[in-house]
Amino acid sequence: MNVEVPTPRQRAGGSSALGVTEDQYTIVHKYLFRVIGDVLGDAVTPEVVTAWDEVYWLMAGAGPLSRARVGQYVSVRVLMPDGIHQTRQYSLSNAPGDGLLRITVKRVASDAGDPEGEVSNQLHKTVHAGDELTLSTPFGDVLLDGAGTPLVLVAAGIGCTPMAGMLDHLAATGSTRPVWVLHADRTPAGHALRAEVRRLVEQLPDARAEFWYEQGASGEPGSRTGLMDLDGLALPADADVYLCGPLPFMRAVRTQLLRAGIPARSLRYEVFGPDLWLAHAGE
Ligand SMILES: Cc1cc2nc3c(=O)[nH]c(=O)nc-3n(C[C@H](O)[C@H](O)[C@H](O)COP(=O)(O)OP(=O)(O)OC[C@H]3O[C@@H](n4cnc5c(N)ncnc54)[C@H](O)[C@@H]3O)c2cc1C
Repeated sequence: MNVEVPTPRQRAGGSSALGVTEDQYTIVHKYLFRVIGDVLGDAVTPEVVTAWDEVYWLMAGAGPLSRARVGQYVSVRVLMPDGIHQTRQYSLSNAPGDGLLRITVKRVASDAGDPEGEVSNQLHKTVHAGDELTLSTPFGDVLLDGAGTPLVLVAAGIGCTPMAGMLDHLAATGSTRPVWVLHADRTPAGHALRAEVRRLVEQLPDARAEFWYEQGASGEPGSRTGLMDLDGLALPADADVYLCGPLPFMRAVRTQLLRAGIPARSLRYEVFGPDLWLAHAGE
């Protein structure tokens, strides 16, 4: 599902990506600084504590809402049926420049005995046009930079959302950058934003899209059956590459990209969950 909201206005001391609200700043401060002391031990001198304390309260009182940037995400706070609020992050799937922020939410179904996703299903079941949503300020540092270098946008599944936002921005700004859109999915029918991505690619003068489906290609040009395979694509070695998808997918593609001559420093990635990438970087 797509959810579009007008660019939100900031309430004083608005919530962070984790949904911490102004009334919780004092308690968060107490435990955060206790943990800092436990972890860093003697490195935390009184001067360090004073400096961090100052920064903490400066940030807590930060005023205006920062403008959304291409590639960022917002946190959405949702009231659940049990009366408890839960917060989840959703990437902006449009160019955030036109006064509207859009998120695209995949409904996480129950699978092999695991429960269905709580917040995604709650959003699908309860949110309708005209409803109000509680959002955080936009966060994230996987940003599209303004350079003219070639771009390779690689995604699997719902990892397409930040790529769609980037493409929308490129099309809206009349970019002439060479762009490769590479996407893997289970089926063409389950490929979110497929038609929109095709349309945006057609609007760009030097862009192409290649899609891989585990079950049955769509029959369109650039659509094939199988797992993503970058061999033979002749990707430019000076490209900036953005990756988003499940960790096993990103690890496999990263290996292929390095083999294709793209240096590791040119790869940026977004993980839709706890960032375990670094913990497993050696695998
Ligand atoms: C930066 C960022 C950007 C993101 N952008 C997007 C986006 O654009 N679009 C999008 O759809 N999602 C996005 N996500 C993912 C999103 O934030 C949520 O994680 C996703 O919607 C699932 O949330 P949920 O509450 O529905 O699932 P949850 O209830 O959190 O469950 C997640 C998974 O855990 C399993 N699970 C839960 N409890 C158990 C249990 N007891 N035993 C075994 N398994 C269990 C569930 O079956 C499910 O598969 C993003 C995440 C991040 C961090």
